[in-house]
Amino acid sequence: MDNCLFCRIARGEIPSAKVYEDDEILAFKDIQPQRPVHVLVIPKRHITSLAHVAATDVPLLGRMLAVAKQIADDQGSPEGFRVIINTGRIGGQEVEHLHAHIVGGLEPVGPMLKRI
Ligand code: 5GP
Ligand code: ZN
Repeated sequence: MDNCLFCRIARGEIPSAKVYEDDEILAFKDIQPQRPVHVLVIPKRHITSLAHVAATDVPLLGRMLAVAKQIADDQGSPEGFRVIINTGRIGGQEVEHLHAHIVGGLEPVGPMLKRI
């Protein structure tokens, strides 16, 4: 996916404020944070959305969620956080590379479906 924005970030072609990285996963600060803590967790290899995952992606998906707590703690959201995975047109997904938003801070993030 040569021109995919998040593939380019994963390859280091576009700079990002990285907060976590391992061999399969990258997490970086959202460029337009909606809350004091707003991090995007992505698989380094291209998966278009949660509607495009294969059975073989299940361990990777689990690991993307499993790193959320550590990221939230590290970034200043120690008492909880929200994970959002917008999917497809109906889900309001703007970047077509799977990503989980981790949002939080020291105040509650608000009602579940209010636009963050
Ligand atoms: P979506 O609406 O697809 O769930 O969320 C896409 C997110 O990517 C948005 O919150 C937007 O602010 C963020 N974003 C878009 N372009 C960039 C970028 O170039 N760098 C970073 N760090 N975040 C981006
Ligand atoms: Zn991609």
